[in-house]
Amino acid sequence: MEDGNKFIEVRDLHVEFDVRAGIIKAVDGMWLEINRGQTVGVIGESGCGKSVTARAIMNMVPKPGKISGGEILYHRKNKDTGEVTTIDITKLDPDGEVIRQIRGGEIGMIFQEPMSSLTPVYTAGTHIYEAVSLHRLVPVKKVGDQMVETIMTYRKVTKQEAREIAIDMLRRVGIPKPDQRVDSYPHQLSGGQRQRVMIAIALSCEPEMLIADEPTTALDVSIEAQILDVMRELQHSVNMAIMFITHNLGVIAEMAEEIVVMYMGKQVERAKVVDLFYDPKHPYTQALLRSIPKIGKRGERLATIEGMVPDPFHLPTGCVFHPRCPMFMPGKCDRIVPTNKEVASNHWASCLLYEEV
Ligand code: SF4
Repeated sequence: MEDGNKFIEVRDLHVEFDVRAGIIKAVDGMWLEINRGQTVGVIGESGCGKSVTARAIMNMVPKPGKISGGEILYHRKNKDTGEVTTIDITKLDPDGEVIRQIRGGEIGMIFQEPMSSLTPVYTAGTHIYEAVSLHRLVPVKKVGDQMVETIMTYRKVTKQEAREIAIDMLRRVGIPKPDQRVDSYPHQLSGGQRQRVMIAIALSCEPEMLIADEPTTALDVSIEAQILDVMRELQHSVNMAIMFITHNLGVIAEMAEEIVVMYMGKQVERAKVVDLFYDPKHPYTQALLRSIPKIGKRGERLATIEGMVPDPFHLPTGCVFHPRCPMFMPGKCDRIVPTNKEVASNHWASCLLYEEV
Protein backbone atom coordinates (compact mmCIF):
# COMPACT_ATOMS: atom_id res chain seq x y z
CA MET A 1 0.00 0.00 0.00
CA GLU A 2 1.46 3.36 -1.01
CA ASP A 3 1.87 6.21 1.46
CA GLY A 4 -0.46 8.79 -0.15
CA ASN A 5 1.52 11.66 1.33
CA LYS A 6 4.82 10.91 -0.40
CA PHE A 7 5.37 12.80 -3.63
CA ILE A 8 8.98 12.48 -4.82
CA GLU A 9 11.78 10.25 -3.57
CA VAL A 10 15.22 10.74 -5.07
CA ARG A 11 17.32 7.70 -4.23
CA ASP A 12 21.07 7.54 -4.75
CA LEU A 13 20.83 9.71 -7.87
CA HIS A 14 23.90 10.08 -10.09
CA VAL A 15 24.11 12.55 -12.98
CA GLU A 16 27.26 12.79 -15.09
CA PHE A 17 28.45 15.16 -17.79
CA ASP A 18 30.80 13.58 -20.28
CA VAL A 19 32.93 16.48 -21.52
CA ARG A 20 36.18 16.53 -23.46
CA ALA A 21 38.32 16.83 -20.33
CA GLY A 22 36.63 13.87 -18.64
CA ILE A 23 33.51 13.01 -16.66
CA ILE A 24 32.01 15.49 -14.21
CA LYS A 25 29.88 13.91 -11.49
CA ALA A 26 27.41 16.77 -11.07
CA VAL A 27 25.16 14.72 -8.79
CA ASP A 28 26.90 11.94 -6.93
CA GLY A 29 24.60 9.83 -4.80
CA MET A 30 21.86 12.33 -3.92
CA TRP A 31 18.93 11.45 -1.63
CA LEU A 32 15.87 13.68 -1.28
CA GLU A 33 12.25 13.22 -0.22
CA ILE A 34 9.42 15.68 -0.65
CA ASN A 35 5.89 15.07 0.60
CA ARG A 36 2.65 16.58 -0.62
CA GLY A 37 2.12 20.05 0.84
CA GLN A 38 5.72 20.22 2.11
CA THR A 39 8.39 22.79 1.26
CA VAL A 40 11.94 21.48 1.18
CA GLY A 41 14.72 24.01 0.73
CA VAL A 42 17.91 23.02 -1.06
CA ILE A 43 21.01 25.10 -0.40
CA GLY A 44 24.71 24.95 -1.25
CA GLU A 45 27.35 26.83 -3.23
CA SER A 46 27.04 27.34 -7.01
CA GLY A 47 27.83 24.16 -8.89
CA CYS A 48 26.95 21.83 -6.00
CA GLY A 49 24.30 20.04 -8.08
CA LYS A 50 21.08 21.71 -6.87
CA SER A 51 19.80 22.74 -10.30
CA VAL A 52 20.96 19.51 -11.96
CA THR A 53 19.00 17.51 -9.37
CA ALA A 54 15.94 19.66 -10.14
CA ARG A 55 16.30 19.08 -13.86
CA ALA A 56 16.74 15.36 -13.30
CA ILE A 57 13.39 15.32 -11.48
CA MET A 58 11.87 16.81 -14.65
CA ASN A 59 13.90 14.30 -16.71
CA MET A 60 15.44 17.27 -18.51
CA VAL A 61 19.16 16.95 -17.90
CA PRO A 62 20.81 18.98 -20.65
CA LYS A 63 23.29 17.19 -22.93
CA PRO A 64 26.06 16.07 -22.59
CA GLY A 65 24.67 15.18 -19.17
CA LYS A 66 22.83 11.99 -18.36
CA ILE A 67 21.29 10.24 -15.38
CA SER A 68 23.78 7.45 -14.77
CA GLY A 69 22.30 5.81 -11.69
CA GLY A 70 19.67 5.81 -8.97
CA GLU A 71 15.92 6.31 -8.99
CA ILE A 72 13.48 9.20 -8.90
CA LEU A 73 10.22 7.75 -7.64
CA TYR A 74 7.15 9.85 -8.39
CA HIS A 75 4.08 8.76 -6.44
CA ARG A 76 1.41 9.82 -8.87
CA LYS A 77 -2.11 10.19 -7.51
CA ASN A 78 -5.15 9.66 -9.71
CA LYS A 79 -7.26 12.78 -9.16
CA ASP A 80 -10.54 10.90 -9.57
CA THR A 81 -9.92 7.68 -7.63
CA GLY A 82 -7.13 8.79 -5.25
CA GLU A 83 -5.18 5.67 -6.25
CA VAL A 84 -1.39 6.12 -6.12
CA THR A 85 0.97 4.52 -8.63
CA THR A 86 4.73 4.86 -8.53
CA ILE A 87 6.72 5.86 -11.60
CA ASP A 88 10.51 5.92 -11.80
CA ILE A 89 11.11 9.15 -13.73
CA THR A 90 14.65 8.09 -14.67
CA LYS A 91 13.16 5.24 -16.72
CA LEU A 92 10.88 7.48 -18.79
CA ASP A 93 11.68 8.60 -22.32
CA PRO A 94 12.60 12.31 -21.86
CA ASP A 95 10.55 13.15 -24.97
CA GLY A 96 7.76 10.64 -24.32
CA GLU A 97 4.08 11.22 -23.66
CA VAL A 98 4.14 10.33 -19.93
CA ILE A 99 6.83 12.81 -18.92
CA ARG A 100 5.21 15.50 -21.05
CA GLN A 101 1.99 15.04 -19.07
CA ILE A 102 3.91 15.21 -15.80
CA ARG A 103 5.90 18.34 -16.65
CA GLY A 104 3.96 21.49 -16.11
CA GLY A 105 0.62 20.08 -15.04
CA GLU A 106 1.89 17.83 -12.24
CA ILE A 107 5.42 19.13 -11.63
CA GLY A 108 6.07 22.74 -12.61
CA MET A 109 9.37 24.56 -12.60
CA ILE A 110 10.48 28.16 -12.37
CA PHE A 111 13.91 28.84 -13.80
CA GLN A 112 16.67 31.09 -12.70
CA GLU A 113 16.90 32.87 -16.03
CA PRO A 114 13.61 33.79 -17.67
CA MET A 115 15.08 34.71 -21.04
CA SER A 116 16.39 31.22 -21.52
CA SER A 117 12.85 29.98 -21.01
CA LEU A 118 10.74 32.73 -22.53
CA THR A 119 10.44 32.71 -26.25
CA PRO A 120 10.38 36.24 -27.64
CA VAL A 121 7.63 35.53 -30.19
CA TYR A 122 5.05 34.39 -27.64
CA THR A 123 2.99 36.59 -25.34
CA ALA A 124 3.10 35.91 -21.58
CA GLY A 125 0.32 33.37 -21.69
CA THR A 126 2.03 31.17 -24.20
CA HIS A 127 5.16 31.32 -22.14
CA ILE A 128 3.49 29.51 -19.32
CA TYR A 129 3.31 26.30 -21.31
CA GLU A 130 6.86 26.54 -22.47
CA ALA A 131 8.18 27.49 -19.07
CA VAL A 132 6.42 24.70 -17.37
CA SER A 133 7.44 22.09 -19.86
CA LEU A 134 11.00 23.44 -19.94
CA HIS A 135 10.93 24.31 -23.60
CA ARG A 136 11.93 27.59 -25.12
CA LEU A 137 9.28 30.27 -25.42
CA VAL A 138 8.35 31.38 -28.88
CA PRO A 139 9.38 35.00 -29.42
CA VAL A 140 6.59 35.97 -31.83
CA LYS A 141 3.71 35.12 -29.49
CA LYS A 142 2.15 37.38 -26.93
CA VAL A 143 2.69 36.55 -23.30
CA GLY A 144 -1.06 36.13 -22.78
CA ASP A 145 -1.49 33.73 -25.71
CA GLN A 146 1.27 31.55 -24.35
CA MET A 147 -0.30 31.57 -20.89
CA VAL A 148 -3.74 30.70 -22.21
CA GLU A 149 -2.46 27.74 -24.22
CA THR A 150 -0.58 26.40 -21.27
CA ILE A 151 -3.44 26.79 -18.83
CA MET A 152 -5.80 25.06 -21.27
CA THR A 153 -3.31 22.21 -21.63
CA TYR A 154 -3.33 21.45 -17.93
CA ARG A 155 -6.69 22.68 -16.62
CA LYS A 156 -10.23 22.02 -17.82
CA VAL A 157 -11.17 25.61 -18.60
CA THR A 158 -12.44 27.56 -21.60
CA LYS A 159 -10.25 30.01 -23.47
CA GLN A 160 -11.99 32.95 -21.81
CA GLU A 161 -11.54 31.41 -18.36
CA ALA A 162 -7.87 30.69 -19.12
CA ARG A 163 -7.34 34.33 -20.08
CA GLU A 164 -8.98 35.45 -16.84
CA ILE A 165 -6.75 33.08 -14.85
CA ALA A 166 -3.70 34.44 -16.72
CA ILE A 167 -4.60 38.07 -15.99
CA ASP A 168 -5.38 37.26 -12.34
CA MET A 169 -2.06 35.44 -11.90
CA LEU A 170 -0.13 38.28 -13.56
CA ARG A 171 -1.81 40.64 -11.09
CA ARG A 172 -0.95 38.36 -8.15
CA VAL A 173 2.74 38.31 -9.07
CA GLY A 174 2.80 42.10 -9.20
CA ILE A 175 2.64 42.88 -12.93
CA PRO A 176 1.14 46.38 -13.28
CA LYS A 177 -1.92 46.72 -15.61
CA PRO A 178 -2.09 42.96 -16.14
CA ASP A 179 -5.10 43.26 -18.48
CA GLN A 180 -2.86 45.23 -20.87
CA ARG A 181 0.44 43.44 -20.17
CA VAL A 182 -1.14 40.11 -21.06
CA ASP A 183 -0.99 41.22 -24.70
CA SER A 184 2.70 42.18 -24.56
CA TYR A 185 5.55 40.32 -26.18
CA PRO A 186 8.44 39.21 -23.94
CA HIS A 187 10.81 41.87 -25.31
CA GLN A 188 8.36 44.57 -24.19
CA LEU A 189 8.74 43.52 -20.56
CA SER A 190 11.60 44.26 -18.18
CA GLY A 191 13.80 41.43 -16.91
CA GLY A 192 12.00 41.42 -13.54
CA GLN A 193 8.59 41.35 -15.27
CA ARG A 194 9.64 38.43 -17.45
CA GLN A 195 10.69 36.54 -14.35
CA ARG A 196 7.28 37.24 -12.81
CA VAL A 197 5.57 36.03 -15.99
CA MET A 198 7.49 32.79 -15.70
CA ILE A 199 6.38 32.43 -12.10
CA ALA A 200 2.79 33.22 -13.12
CA ILE A 201 3.00 30.59 -15.85
CA ALA A 202 4.16 27.87 -13.50
CA LEU A 203 1.68 28.75 -10.76
CA SER A 204 -1.38 29.18 -12.99
CA CYS A 205 -1.23 25.50 -13.93
CA GLU A 206 -1.62 24.64 -10.22
CA PRO A 207 1.04 21.91 -10.32
CA GLU A 208 1.12 19.33 -7.53
CA MET A 209 4.79 20.11 -7.06
CA LEU A 210 6.67 23.29 -7.87
CA ILE A 211 10.43 23.32 -8.36
CA ALA A 212 11.52 26.90 -7.78
CA ASP A 213 15.16 27.39 -8.80
CA GLU A 214 16.33 30.75 -7.43
CA PRO A 215 12.90 32.14 -8.40
CA THR A 216 13.18 35.58 -6.85
CA THR A 217 16.90 36.34 -7.10
CA ALA A 218 16.47 39.09 -9.70
CA LEU A 219 13.49 40.74 -7.99
CA ASP A 220 13.32 43.50 -5.40
CA VAL A 221 12.35 42.52 -1.87
CA SER A 222 8.74 43.78 -1.95
CA ILE A 223 7.97 41.83 -5.15
CA GLU A 224 9.82 38.84 -3.71
CA ALA A 225 7.61 38.92 -0.59
CA GLN A 226 4.50 39.15 -2.79
CA ILE A 227 5.57 36.14 -4.85
CA LEU A 228 6.42 34.07 -1.81
CA ASP A 229 2.92 34.85 -0.49
CA VAL A 230 1.33 33.65 -3.75
CA MET A 231 3.33 30.41 -3.55
CA ARG A 232 2.22 29.82 0.03
CA GLU A 233 -1.44 30.57 -0.82
CA LEU A 234 -1.32 28.10 -3.67
CA GLN A 235 0.44 25.54 -1.55
CA HIS A 236 -2.39 25.69 0.96
CA SER A 237 -5.17 25.63 -1.62
CA VAL A 238 -3.88 22.70 -3.72
CA ASN A 239 -1.55 21.01 -1.17
CA MET A 240 1.38 21.73 -3.49
CA ALA A 241 4.84 20.38 -2.66
CA ILE A 242 7.68 22.86 -3.20
CA MET A 243 11.36 22.24 -3.82
CA PHE A 244 12.91 25.64 -3.19
CA ILE A 245 16.47 26.15 -4.40
CA THR A 246 18.19 29.31 -3.29
CA HIS A 247 21.33 30.96 -1.99
CA ASN A 248 19.20 33.21 0.19
CA LEU A 249 19.20 31.63 3.64
CA GLY A 250 16.73 34.25 4.92
CA VAL A 251 14.14 33.27 2.29
CA ILE A 252 14.67 29.58 2.91
CA ALA A 253 14.21 30.03 6.67
CA GLU A 254 10.88 31.69 5.96
CA MET A 255 9.62 29.27 3.30
CA ALA A 256 10.88 25.78 4.10
CA GLU A 257 10.01 23.23 6.76
CA GLU A 258 13.03 21.10 6.00
CA ILE A 259 16.41 21.97 4.48
CA VAL A 260 18.81 19.85 2.49
CA VAL A 261 22.41 21.07 2.24
CA MET A 262 24.35 19.95 -0.83
CA TYR A 263 28.08 19.85 -1.43
CA MET A 264 29.77 18.44 -4.55
CA GLY A 265 26.64 16.64 -5.75
CA LYS A 266 25.72 15.04 -2.43
CA GLN A 267 23.37 15.70 0.43
CA VAL A 268 25.65 16.48 3.39
CA GLU A 269 22.96 17.46 5.88
CA ARG A 270 19.18 17.37 6.16
CA ALA A 271 17.08 18.65 9.05
CA LYS A 272 14.01 20.64 10.06
CA VAL A 273 14.65 24.33 9.44
CA VAL A 274 14.93 25.26 13.14
CA ASP A 275 17.31 22.39 13.91
CA LEU A 276 19.50 23.24 10.95
CA PHE A 277 19.78 26.93 11.79
CA TYR A 278 20.22 26.51 15.55
CA ASP A 279 22.18 23.28 15.69
CA PRO A 280 23.93 22.59 12.39
CA LYS A 281 25.91 19.34 12.58
CA HIS A 282 28.01 19.28 9.41
CA PRO A 283 31.11 21.52 9.34
CA TYR A 284 30.12 22.75 5.85
CA THR A 285 26.67 23.86 7.05
CA GLN A 286 28.26 25.49 10.09
CA ALA A 287 30.59 27.43 7.77
CA LEU A 288 27.71 28.42 5.45
CA LEU A 289 25.73 29.79 8.38
CA ARG A 290 28.74 31.70 9.73
CA SER A 291 28.96 33.49 6.39
CA ILE A 292 25.52 35.14 6.80
CA PRO A 293 25.84 38.88 7.59
CA LYS A 294 24.57 39.66 11.13
CA ILE A 295 22.54 42.76 11.95
CA GLY A 296 24.46 45.02 14.35
CA LYS A 297 27.89 43.64 13.37
CA ARG A 298 28.87 46.41 10.99
CA GLY A 299 32.49 46.80 10.08
CA GLU A 300 33.40 43.18 10.77
CA ARG A 301 34.72 41.00 7.99
CA LEU A 302 32.27 38.34 6.88
CA ALA A 303 33.37 34.79 7.58
CA THR A 304 34.18 32.83 4.44
CA ILE A 305 34.65 29.13 3.78
CA GLU A 306 38.35 28.36 3.50
CA GLY A 307 39.73 27.12 0.19
CA MET A 308 38.01 26.54 -3.11
CA VAL A 309 35.40 24.14 -4.42
CA PRO A 310 37.49 21.15 -5.63
CA ASP A 311 38.34 20.54 -9.27
CA PRO A 312 35.59 18.17 -10.47
CA PHE A 313 38.16 16.13 -12.42
CA HIS A 314 40.35 15.60 -9.35
CA LEU A 315 38.04 15.08 -6.43
CA PRO A 316 39.61 14.71 -2.97
CA THR A 317 39.75 11.23 -1.49
CA GLY A 318 37.62 10.35 1.52
CA CYS A 319 35.27 13.17 2.50
CA VAL A 320 35.14 15.63 -0.43
CA PHE A 321 34.97 18.55 1.99
CA HIS A 322 38.18 17.59 3.81
CA PRO A 323 40.58 20.10 2.16
CA ARG A 324 38.36 22.95 3.43
CA CYS A 325 37.15 21.52 6.72
CA PRO A 326 38.20 23.14 10.01
CA MET A 327 37.47 19.83 11.80
CA PHE A 328 39.63 17.74 9.43
CA MET A 329 40.94 14.55 11.05
CA PRO A 330 44.14 13.43 9.26
CA GLY A 331 44.25 9.76 8.32
CA LYS A 332 40.48 9.51 8.63
CA CYS A 333 38.70 12.23 6.66
CA ASP A 334 41.11 11.90 3.73
CA ARG A 335 40.60 8.13 3.55
CA ILE A 336 37.04 7.26 4.48
CA VAL A 337 33.90 8.38 2.66
CA PRO A 338 31.33 9.35 5.32
CA THR A 339 27.84 7.86 5.14
CA ASN A 340 24.57 9.60 5.83
CA LYS A 341 23.74 9.03 9.52
CA GLU A 342 20.83 10.13 11.67
CA VAL A 343 22.72 12.25 14.21
CA ALA A 344 19.64 13.51 16.10
CA SER A 345 15.92 12.96 15.71
CA ASN A 346 15.10 13.57 12.02
CA HIS A 347 18.49 15.21 11.54
CA TRP A 348 20.92 13.60 9.11
CA ALA A 349 24.56 14.40 8.35
CA SER A 350 27.41 12.83 6.36
CA CYS A 351 30.45 13.43 8.52
CA LEU A 352 32.93 11.17 10.24
CA LEU A 353 32.60 13.18 13.46
CA TYR A 354 29.38 11.23 13.93
CA GLU A 355 30.63 7.83 12.85
CA GLU A 356 32.58 5.29 14.82
CA VAL A 357 35.36 4.26 12.47
FE1 SF4 B 1 35.13 17.52 8.05
FE2 SF4 B 1 35.95 15.04 8.31
FE3 SF4 B 1 33.40 15.63 8.70
FE4 SF4 B 1 34.43 15.70 6.26
S1 SF4 B 1 34.21 13.91 7.55
S2 SF4 B 1 33.12 17.19 7.17
S3 SF4 B 1 36.48 16.47 6.69
S4 SF4 B 1 35.14 16.33 9.93
